[in-house]
Amino acid sequence: MKLTDILKKSQKTLFSIEILPPLKGKGIQSIYNVIDPLLEFKPAFIDVTYHREEYIYKKRPGGYLEKVSVRKRPGTVGICAALMYKYNIEAVPHIICGGFNKEETENALIDLHFLGIQNVLALRGDSIKSEPYFVPEPGGHAYALDLVKQIAAMNKGIYLDEEMKDAEPTDFCIGVAGYPEKHFEAPNIQTDLHYLKQKIDAGAHYIVTQMFFDNKKYFNFVEKCREIGITVPIIPGIKILSSKKQLLTIPKVFNVEIPFELSQAVHKCKSDEEVQNVGIEWSIQQCKELIQQNVPCLHFYTMGNATITKKVAEKIF
Ligand code: FAD
Repeated sequence: MKLTDILKKSQKTLFSIEILPPLKGKGIQSIYNVIDPLLEFKPAFIDVTYHREEYIYKKRPGGYLEKVSVRKRPGTVGICAALMYKYNIEAVPHIICGGFNKEETENALIDLHFLGIQNVLALRGDSIKSEPYFVPEPGGHAYALDLVKQIAAMNKGIYLDEEMKDAEPTDFCIGVAGYPEKHFEAPNIQTDLHYLKQKIDAGAHYIVTQMFFDNKKYFNFVEKCREIGITVPIIPGIKILSSKKQLLTIPKVFNVEIPFELSQAVHKCKSDEEVQNVGIEWSIQQCKELIQQNVPCLHFYTMGNATITKKVAEKIF
């Protein structure tokens, strides 16, 4: 079922989660171990992230270093198919531009279509870890906007080969990313919103936001989106703080602020267990306020930690 139909059918705020594929060599049971304890909250959908290749240097005989491309967390599409089969819950693969040319993207979308996967989150993806800026694949997309256009075209039966006649249209419900505190590369929030609107105008059906720890940022973002004519559902992304280290890593990696009151409370903690209690309480308050404002769904970035997600969910659902 399309995610937008699931949202439309529901009178109340829904629960959903994002999971990461396991590290290469680990089994799929590790994913089930995250999902099983959360089933009681009836996830409306489960997002599965996509991880592009990284370069590592391997020491070879003679001492020289060989640059090797590795994908540490493969398996997104297989996991989605397994989740739909096992749980009968909509699984949403993240599709990225990075590392794919248009034909590879088209073929991946055909696989998803054949598997009965109807929802996708269309993203540009980040740069390769060792590179400072995002570099599109030769013959690939530079922005998520172009990926949305390709998927929307396939939904009309238009494939890359223009001579192809009577091609079966796909029927994807397309999600895109939105940034309440702006994407780190955007010169300002207006420009970022301008491009977000382009993604919606090109055929995207809903937005999932980057995490935020101050609800005002989400409410302002939604207001600005509505002002420029974005009418699609805007699903807030929720992250529960769980370690002191995240005070440094979250602002750096995700370019979001941690409010003073929260960072002070975390600083006072003597262990990560105490930090988790602070993070859980903060998230509960955040979620209660978001529910009061009738957000369509609360989307939890579990990062493989079902325990803390459950502690928040049981207080609000
Ligand atoms: P875009 O929408 O393409 O925007 C990227 C930047 O370019 C922005 O600054 C935007 O303002 C600007 N821009 C957009 N269009 C244009 C244009 N036409 N001309 C000029 N500038 C433009 N990454 C992964 O690798 N795998 C994942 O699974 C993943 N999941 C994510 C899930 C969510 C909910 C979110 C919020 C992010 C996720 N990311 C993931 C991270 C994401 O890939 C990065 O934030 C990436 O840097 C931007 O992706 P985007 O789709 O927002 O890009």
